[in-house]
Amino acid sequence: MPILGIDYEKCDDCQICYNACTRYFRRDKELNKMVFEDPNNLFDSCGRCIARCK
Ligand code: SF4
Repeated sequence: MPILGIDYEKCDDCQICYNACTRYFRRDKELNKMVFEDPNNLFDSCGRCIARCK
């Protein structure tokens, strides 16, 4: 299942997704929130981030 983005209505900035995957998640200091980026369309849907996000 592809990730469409982060639901900021539910995200509490716990950064668990980043700890699960530093390839596609990062904390944007200017936006002050987690962001998901896949500019080269390499995301492989391994599911680690989804499994850990509460
Ligand atoms: S694991 Fe979920 S709740 Fe935590 S920062 Fe990532 S998207 Fe937000």
